[in-house]
Amino acid sequence: MTSDGAPRLLRIGAVRRVTEAEGPGRRFAVWAQGCSIRCVGCFNPHLLGTRGGWDASPADLAADALGAARDLGVDGVTLLGGEPFEQAAAFAEFAALARGGGLTVMTFTGFEREFLEGPTAPRGAADLLAATDLLVDGPYLADQIDLTRPWVGSANQRFHFLTDRLKEFEPRLADLPDRLEVRIDATGRVTVNGWATTDQLDRLLADLVRPPRGA
Ligand code: SF4
Repeated sequence: MTSDGAPRLLRIGAVRRVTEAEGPGRRFAVWAQGCSIRCVGCFNPHLLGTRGGWDASPADLAADALGAARDLGVDGVTLLGGEPFEQAAAFAEFAALARGGGLTVMTFTGFEREFLEGPTAPRGAADLLAATDLLVDGPYLADQIDLTRPWVGSANQRFHFLTDRLKEFEPRLADLPDRLEVRIDATGRVTVNGWATTDQLDRLLADLVRPPRGA
C-alpha cells in the first residue's frame, strides 16, 4: 500500500516464469518497465520508456512466483530491467513476499550500491536492498564487455552477496557459464533472454531464420 492507502503497483515489461539464464538455478524473472540510466548499447531498449508494459500488484506477482516454485521447480526470483530501483518500494514488497515464501532474490541494477545506500537513493531503495540476497550493480559499459563471468554484461558490474542465501555461488562464479535462452512459441514468435554479444546474437538469429539446406 502507498501512504495514501492506494495499492502499490509494479510496471512490468516482461515476466518469464522459469529461466536458467538469469541467475543461479531455476528462476522466476521479472523485467521492470522503465529506466532513466540509458547506458549506450543497452540490451533492452524496449524497456527504457515508462509507457510500455503492464501494471501488476506485488502480491499477485508473488503468488505467480510461488506457483512457479511449486509447479516448475523455481527456487528464486530475479529482478532486472529496466531499472528495479526506480520502482524500489513496489519491488521491495514483491521481493519480501517471494522471500517469505522461501525463494531467493537476485536484483540487477544500473545504479551503484554506494548510491543506493546513500542519502539521495530512490525511495524504497533500503527496503529493496534488505529484501535482496544477491545484488548485481553498475551500468552497462559497452567498452568493457565481460565474457568471463555469468549474467553480467560488463567488467565494471559487481556481485554483492548481501546474505548467505546465494553465497555458495561466490567461489564458483568463474566456472558458471553464460547462458542464452531462445524460445519459439506456437505462433513462431522468438524470444531471447540471457546474455550474448550483439555479434553472437546476430549469428544465432541468422541461423534460426535461415531455411534448411535443400528447402
Ligand atoms: S541500467 Fe540496464 S536497463 Fe538501464 S539503460 Fe543500463 S543496461 Fe539498459
